[in-house]
Amino acid sequence: MKTFIVYAHAEPRSFNGALFQTAQETLRAAGHTVVTSDLYAMKFDPVSDRRNFTTVKNPDFFKQQIEEMHATDVGGFAPDVEAELCKMEACDLMIWQFPLWWFGLPGILKGWADRVFAMGRTYGGERFYENGVFKGKRALLSVTTGGPQAVYQKGGWNGDIHAILRPIQRGILRFTGWSVLAPNIVYAPVRVIDEERQTWLKHWAARLRAIESEAPIEVGEY
Ligand SMILES: Cc1cc2nc3c(=O)[nH]c(=O)nc-3n(C[C@H](O)[C@H](O)[C@H](O)COP(=O)(O)OP(=O)(O)OC[C@H]3O[C@@H](n4cnc5c(N)ncnc54)[C@H](O)[C@@H]3O)c2cc1C
Repeated sequence: MKTFIVYAHAEPRSFNGALFQTAQETLRAAGHTVVTSDLYAMKFDPVSDRRNFTTVKNPDFFKQQIEEMHATDVGGFAPDVEAELCKMEACDLMIWQFPLWWFGLPGILKGWADRVFAMGRTYGGERFYENGVFKGKRALLSVTTGGPQAVYQKGGWNGDIHAILRPIQRGILRFTGWSVLAPNIVYAPVRVIDEERQTWLKHWAARLRAIESEAPIEVGEY
């Protein structure tokens, strides 16, 4: 299995860093190929505009999706975007490792998605959801929170974590055809004792060892 891990944390010694390391080591030890994008280490540019392209369809008015379709036709994506597209296209399983920021993706990862999920190349025409471009590939969010599990229940203080993740799981991943696996959610790693964090890492590793046989989830509707 070819795995692609996109990692969005600026501190290698963070718990996100530990989850990222654990995933790489576990998957490689199980014989899988692992390719990574460590977005901060790469200094990935998250700003989406004409820099996404080497080609220009309309020099007078910038419409991103028009330029994306043109770049798809003529091979006109900037090298940093093209490299990420190739990693997605080559993998069987994609994992995003990130801390929850303002109920969503950290800006560097949101910008990565804004630039890389290009119309034409990753969706469009009749290719959405079950007929999406990435049909047959699987994706998994591995996310940490600041708040504990108790505040992420339906009707609770912050509400249902699955509803919070739905814009990503449905609006980006399922929309473009990925089969979505259950998220790996580590609640409030900073608030627990070290033994509990070690247990989370062991559970993550154990899950990854058996990930090939895992069935996707329903990401839910609105
Ligand atoms: C801009 C912003 C917006 C935010 N928005 C939200 C939000 O909407 N909702 C929310 O809930 N939270 C929010 N947060 C909080 C954020 O989600 C958490 O701080 C983050 O998820 C914690 O993960 P971390 O990797 O940064 O933890 P860290 O603080 O890096 O790590 C936690 C602990 O794990 C330890 N650790 C590291 N490696 C290991 C290891 N191998 N074994 C054992 N222990 C280890 C560290 O030393 C540390 O003590 C926000 C934070 C910011 C900055």
